Amino acid sequence: MQYRYDRDKADGQSQKQNGALGAECTRRTVHGSVGTWTGRKERDNRNAHANKDGQADEAALPHAIYYRHCPRLCQGGPHQKVTADGGLTRRAGGSYSRTLTLMTREIPKAYEPQEIELRWAQQWFDRKLYVAGPKTSAPTFSIAIPPPNVTGSIHIGHMLEHTQIDILVRWHRMRGFRTLWLPGMDHAGIATQVVVERELAKQGLKRAELGREEFERRVWEWKAHSGGTIKKQMIRLGVSCDWSRERFTLDPPMYRAVLEAFLRLYREGLIYRGRYIVNWCPRCMTALSDLETEHDERRGQLWLIRYPVDGSAETVVVATTRPETMLGDSGVAVHPDDDRYKHLVGRNVLLPLMNRKIPVVADAAVDPAFGTGAVKVTPAHDPNDFEIGRRHDLAEIEVMSEDAKMNAAAGAYAGLDRQEARHRVVADLEKLGLIERIDQHTHSVGVCQRCKTVVEPRISTQWFCKMKPLAEPALGVVRDNKIVTVPDNQRKILMNWLEGIRDWCISRQLWWGHRIPVWHCAECGGMSPARDSRVEVVDGRAQAASPPVACDKCGGKKLAQDPDVLDTWFSSGLWPFSTLGWPDETQDLREFYPTSLLISGYDILFFWDARMIMMALKLAPLGESAERIPFRQLYLHSLVRDPHGVKMSKTRGNVVDPLEMIEKYGTDALRFTLAIMAAPGTDIALSEDRILSCRAFANKIWNAARFLFVNLEKLEAAGISFEEVAGPAARQRTARAAGGLDLAERWIFSRMAAAIEQANRALAEYRFHEAAHAVYHFFWGDICDWYIEWMKPRLEGDNRQDTVATWRNLFTVLEAALRMLHPFMPFVTEELWTRLPQGAQESISLERFPEPAAEWADAEAEKQMGLLQEIIAAARNIRAEMKLDPRRRVAAELAPAESVPRSFLEKHSDALLRLANLSSVVLAEQGRHLDPGRGAVRSTAEFELLIPFDEAVDRVTEAAKVRKELERLEKDIEAKAARLGDQAFRSKAPERVVKAEEIALGERRAEREKLRVRLGQLEG
Ligand SMILES: [Zn+2]
Ligand SMILES: [Zn+2]
Repeated sequence: MQYRYDRDKADGQSQKQNGALGAECTRRTVHGSVGTWTGRKERDNRNAHANKDGQADEAALPHAIYYRHCPRLCQGGPHQKVTADGGLTRRAGGSYSRTLTLMTREIPKAYEPQEIELRWAQQWFDRKLYVAGPKTSAPTFSIAIPPPNVTGSIHIGHMLEHTQIDILVRWHRMRGFRTLWLPGMDHAGIATQVVVERELAKQGLKRAELGREEFERRVWEWKAHSGGTIKKQMIRLGVSCDWSRERFTLDPPMYRAVLEAFLRLYREGLIYRGRYIVNWCPRCMTALSDLETEHDERRGQLWLIRYPVDGSAETVVVATTRPETMLGDSGVAVHPDDDRYKHLVGRNVLLPLMNRKIPVVADAAVDPAFGTGAVKVTPAHDPNDFEIGRRHDLAEIEVMSEDAKMNAAAGAYAGLDRQEARHRVVADLEKLGLIERIDQHTHSVGVCQRCKTVVEPRISTQWFCKMKPLAEPALGVVRDNKIVTVPDNQRKILMNWLEGIRDWCISRQLWWGHRIPVWHCAECGGMSPARDSRVEVVDGRAQAASPPVACDKCGGKKLAQDPDVLDTWFSSGLWPFSTLGWPDETQDLREFYPTSLLISGYDILFFWDARMIMMALKLAPLGESAERIPFRQLYLHSLVRDPHGVKMSKTRGNVVDPLEMIEKYGTDALRFTLAIMAAPGTDIALSEDRILSCRAFANKIWNAARFLFVNLEKLEAAGISFEEVAGPAARQRTARAAGGLDLAERWIFSRMAAAIEQANRALAEYRFHEAAHAVYHFFWGDICDWYIEWMKPRLEGDNRQDTVATWRNLFTVLEAALRMLHPFMPFVTEELWTRLPQGAQESISLERFPEPAAEWADAEAEKQMGLLQEIIAAARNIRAEMKLDPRRRVAAELAPAESVPRSFLEKHSDALLRLANLSSVVLAEQGRHLDPGRGAVRSTAEFELLIPFDEAVDRVTEAAKVRKELERLEKDIEAKAARLGDQAFRSKAPERVVKAEEIALGERRAEREKLRVRLGQLEG
């Protein structure tokens, strides 16, 4: 009978209180408003807190649930949930005269993940449990979060990613690594600007009207109020991040890293400015990189237009999917070897509608097989034409403005929207009889990834980064596996992309982001970069602190900063080292760089992963080039799809909201589902059923622990204390009490060793599903189904020493299993673990992952136990097939093979009888065959087991039962067969429904066969 007070041993009041509690309080739990304190001292933790008045303080974060603890400690009673701050007295600050910690023994009947999870998530965060500790001799494991957008909210992809990262981080931490999981958010240029513009539109405001400074101020305001929802969600999900190192890409130190990177690349000539064709979003009014442009297959038309040859009656027919662009044509191109057109090369055609003479040029890039083999060339509005135009010195005529309306150069069509212009151009050409024909045509259309507007290729002045020189070293480290890529096929995809890389358009015509640190001279047009990368904060926002005072070229003083900002991915590319303090040579950089691992989705392999590798190899500061890599391993996780394997999308309406699932089933259940389904390289088909079954697993863990705690009462009645059987010291000793161990105990330790090894091996190779399976089967199969069942009679034995040993082993196994489960299901394991008597540690997450002792592996015990399990399973199968009343005990005969000693079976006959639900087992001679005429027989190489018909059943009643069952089955089979024979059903029903029906029919038929055999036996 004991209460334990922690950390306040010197407090006489507590000691006195301890004594005053009295024996009747033993099983009462005293609950403070755990995890909802502000300003609490570090030491004031553990699972129960109470201040002097027995009242709890206000929570730091929203959504916390408060728990009122019992007003009188000795009458604790069950948790009382109170909403918001009702029933609690608020106290300022966090000074408590007394902190008491009681071991909580009573486990609520119902497992309520929502309550448990909120409480622990908040505690872990408040207690700063996962701040990376000071350097020791321990190895380091560091990982940077793929920074979610500040506009974001947790979706199922994040959930998978965060689950996998958290499993690995917790697992490493528990294996003694010094771990750092560095969190942060991305300012998400376009995404954020779109969100804020929408907000402004509601108030009838436009970005342009506000002006740049005011707009930026509004975005910061939006960020302060609405941004970062995802961070709160991550805290709620209990991710074990080091929040003290949190970063945001626009914070001054990160801004500085971006300027430093830009200036270094600019000085080396790797960043340049020029007029090139780019993907232009007319809605977002900005250039997009190739990666930000999605391609949709669309049905459209191909117009074949006749261009009259100048000074001849001949015409050349060109094909186009965008007839309105012809207004900007400055040439017609044909393949040099195309005999049909050889005579025209060098001559001019007359561009219809515009009456402009344009040359016919020969260019090898033209595909003679496409259309007529002659193509119109519009250098200002098509990337391929742009290249052809540059090769042949053709005019670059822009006929559209940045909002995709026709401009003055489009003559009579000026002012029209691109769609209207298309109709008018086609109609006018038809009037002139210049449309040869119109074909149906499916082609790929570029759309803006953000707003889905059709992208207009457009010539404009942009900033670019030369990629070839950066890609080459990256290609080397990927090819040589200096960055190990899992799954390996992604390595080849990455290499292919690096080999074919094109220059990266890094400027965006946005206001939200890192502004390009280059100034233009009004006098000579020259460009002068910032003098250094220092950043100053003005009005709460960061900007370059060292602008040039005079033009580098002419010394002029009229300088204006370039209006563009950098592509968001430019700052993301620096993430693994900028977050650690680069460009300064910080301690964090020395100790945590290169990071150990990057986990990302393969959808951002090029956007992000590849760019980090290139940027790190170019810029990261550390010694040997091998150490410049941003991460040692790259694991690309798969996609989460709907139950039918279809990609989730809002338009399809098949999106699973992880927060909704968590509300229903708990974080642990969802985490476990995602882990157990995550085989590398295979997408996850997530269904609610799967989550439900993992919820059942969490429940099983809860109930197994509860069973032990509840039964402990009997033990205590016999004068044996909880500490004695479940304390840390007891758990240490027990496993080594060899010799005295029961077979099932030797077996469970051996199983545990195997499960630990399997989980370790699987996690080291990112085989999350295999690791999850190992712990699942160990807990549910080995511990719950066999070990606890086996040991039950010994939990209340007469022999004190024996009972204590049995209990100790049980708690040793349970406690180790909780640690093994912890990386996968952090909450339920923490909740149960803290209810065991513990030593100095404050959280299971800071304990060690179980390590198998050398003596645990016990092949003999596994073999012997395996045999007994097979016999029990055989008996259970026969019983099930005979459809015996589960309560009815029946006799059985067992004939062991020569290799199985009878004495062994005799020794374990009690367990056999009990677990197979038999009234008796008659041991036949070794090696004898049992007569299948007398009963149902199961045989293996090691035994034959028989349950006699007579003994088991009343033949007449049983036969009647079986006949009835057969009749029912026949009807069912007929109905199903008819349904499947119906062509209307087969053609209309979804394929999976038909398939399910076919499977069901097969199963019914197999069952009918079994019943027929059974009836034959009964009618013998
Ligand atoms: Zn757009
Ligand atoms: Zn100048």
